[in-house]
Amino acid sequence: MNELAPQLADFLPGGVLAAAADPRPNLVGMDRDDMAAALAPLGVEPYRVRQIFQWVYNRGVTSFDAMTNLSKALRAELDERFRIARLDVSDARISTDGTRKWLVRFPDRQEAETVFIPEPDRGTLCVSSQIGCTLTCSFCHTGTQKLVRNLTADEILGQLMLARDTLGEWPDSQVDRRLTNIVMMGMGEPLYNFDNVKKALRIAVDGEGISISWRKITLSTSGVVPMIRRAGEEIGVMLAISLHAVRDELRDVLVPINRKWPIAELLQACRDYPTGTNARRITFEYVMLKGVNDSDADARELARLLQGIPSKVNLIPFNPWPGTDYECSDAKRIERFADIVNKAGYVATVRTPRGRDILAACGQLKSESVRERRQKAS
Ligand code: SAH
Ligand code: SF4
Repeated sequence: MNELAPQLADFLPGGVLAAAADPRPNLVGMDRDDMAAALAPLGVEPYRVRQIFQWVYNRGVTSFDAMTNLSKALRAELDERFRIARLDVSDARISTDGTRKWLVRFPDRQEAETVFIPEPDRGTLCVSSQIGCTLTCSFCHTGTQKLVRNLTADEILGQLMLARDTLGEWPDSQVDRRLTNIVMMGMGEPLYNFDNVKKALRIAVDGEGISISWRKITLSTSGVVPMIRRAGEEIGVMLAISLHAVRDELRDVLVPINRKWPIAELLQACRDYPTGTNARRITFEYVMLKGVNDSDADARELARLLQGIPSKVNLIPFNPWPGTDYECSDAKRIERFADIVNKAGYVATVRTPRGRDILAACGQLKSESVRERRQKAS
């Protein structure tokens, strides 16, 4: 089947072509300044802009009619000129472990994935920042796909709003919030899409916006050193570093961006990141690859490298994908590795793979579901 051929559903109300054809700018994705500029020609006063910002991001309304503290005339005018649009969902799945995965589709027919991971004491939304990735980490499935494009701020925010919609968690609802944390750990390298990620996350932490504390938002990077500095100054959320190796020769292969910014420079950027208290510890992610980076010596060297950086270590069991030569370290090896790091005085946790049955685990995003759908279609 021709993948580009429009499907019948696309022409139905709310379908992607309908959305693409709607010329009204979307308020979702605009920060306070953008909204003020967009609403200025209508003579909307600053305090009203603030109310509209709250309706959109804090109350999660999807129609201007719901903005009950605005006059009917203003609501009608806003509706004529703007929309409050949601993302189209082309597939939604729930894993046997409760993990949810949405495949969202944008007006240009590109797709990205968002994953919600419920845990007893929290719920984490794993958000994508790009479609594909320009980097080519050798153990990551997303890295085998070419970058298609950056996601816009509204496409990043749209993933949060979709999760809130589905979980029924806008402030008007009575339920305890299940979506408590955000990790920028979906597809793509967030620091290569800095402006859009910054805009979206600033709205996410805004108390009159999505209102999630910066302490509960983690941005994961493969190590774009100059941007780590800017992220500290301009975004100010928690930082996670995809370290994965303790020697440059190996990290050059696993995380090729290391050739540009080697381990010593990366760790210096971490030392300079505004940290200092326990609340601001940096997470070092370390994928466990059998016989590659999982020896006792690697664990000891890891602890040595992290000296002086308020940090914790997150060991990620490798999630295999078709065509990879890597294997996941044995459970005993991971335990021993964690032990050594722990004994050296660092908190080392092992990330439990979640949602593997719906291909939602780390490094499994997008290509596999596209492949799976293709298989079903043929
Ligand atoms: N591009 C960013 C964020 C997305 S990846 C980054 O690299 O940090 C989120 C995490 O999943 C990263 O630590 C990444 O290295 C890890 N990861 C990628 N592929 C994986 C796989 N197959 N198994 C386990 N973890 C993987
Ligand atoms: Fe890109 Fe991160 Fe995957 Fe590396 S691990 S290819 S940076 S998504």
